[in-house]
Amino acid sequence: MSTLGTFRGTIASITLRGTFVMITGVRAIVLERQGEPLAPAALPDPVPGPGQLLLRVRACAVCRTDLHLRDGEIAATKLPVVLGHQIVGMTEDGRRVGVPWLGWTDGECRYCRSGRENLCERAVFTGRDIDGGFAELTVAHERFCFALPEGLSDEQAAPLLCGGLIGYRALRMTGNGERLGLYGFGSAAHMICQVAAFEGRRVFAFTRAGDQRTQNFARSLGAEWAGDSGTAPPEELDAAIIFAPVGELVPAALKVLARGGVVVCAGIHMSDIPSFPYADLWLERSIRSVANLTRKDGEELLALAPRVPVRMSVTTYPLERTEDAIADLRAGRFEGTAVVIP
Ligand SMILES: [Zn+2]
Ligand SMILES: [Zn+2]
Repeated sequence: MSTLGTFRGTIASITLRGTFVMITGVRAIVLERQGEPLAPAALPDPVPGPGQLLLRVRACAVCRTDLHLRDGEIAATKLPVVLGHQIVGMTEDGRRVGVPWLGWTDGECRYCRSGRENLCERAVFTGRDIDGGFAELTVAHERFCFALPEGLSDEQAAPLLCGGLIGYRALRMTGNGERLGLYGFGSAAHMICQVAAFEGRRVFAFTRAGDQRTQNFARSLGAEWAGDSGTAPPEELDAAIIFAPVGELVPAALKVLARGGVVVCAGIHMSDIPSFPYADLWLERSIRSVANLTRKDGEELLALAPRVPVRMSVTTYPLERTEDAIADLRAGRFEGTAVVIP
């Protein structure tokens, strides 16, 4: 028996829209064409290449980027593809690791050599350029896997691996601003709200108009104020992070910034930003984006999260319901993060 013997995919039966289907191989949920629902598939066992680990997936959290890829708002680089880039997996020798969005970099370009591997032009991203975690088995480059702290369950660890990380990187980009606005209070914001409050910042949470449920959720996680994104907070903000993919929020956030404040756009996709008067940018206000993550971001956040401690609000879905998890994210039907359990 090969070393893969215990790692083989299962023979499984599933029921899809009332039809009983037998599949043989690794159970996976696949995006065949953008704009169409994810569908169950049976894939051959993945074979790890040089430097890669074979992983049995224990949990994979859903990210808004999965939704954008599913809906065609960002371009797919390979089809079919297994989405999912917040993976908690077990190696063949029993180590639990986390696999983030940053799947591989060349390590030698000007960005990699200057501590900015998140900007590597040859970077490979998990669940886009290589198959991700909405499957029983996957492979990942070992250099880009994180050791996970004890005491964080699989479900609690998975959302940190993109939502937490991009939120953490965005938070670092806000400098030491005391009064922090969070626009769009989903997976990333609900984690970073807790980190920011732990660091002694004052958090102001902005949601869709009238979304009392999410505003209450934000207050329960340490936000001192929560309100509609169109309303002005009770005082000026030193920084704002925009997690929602809504370009109108950029000039809205700029309007409530104090002098020298920064608006950080944390998403991979956003609708166009409307024009605004230069006076709103004047006095050293700035707008910037954050992209991807570095392994240093991951090491810092994974050390910090248990100290806060960051408590993830998680809704779990079985693998076969991954499409439902993405639909529920689109519709805002859960608080926090959806996590798929194969
Ligand atoms: Zn590079
Ligand atoms: Zn992501």
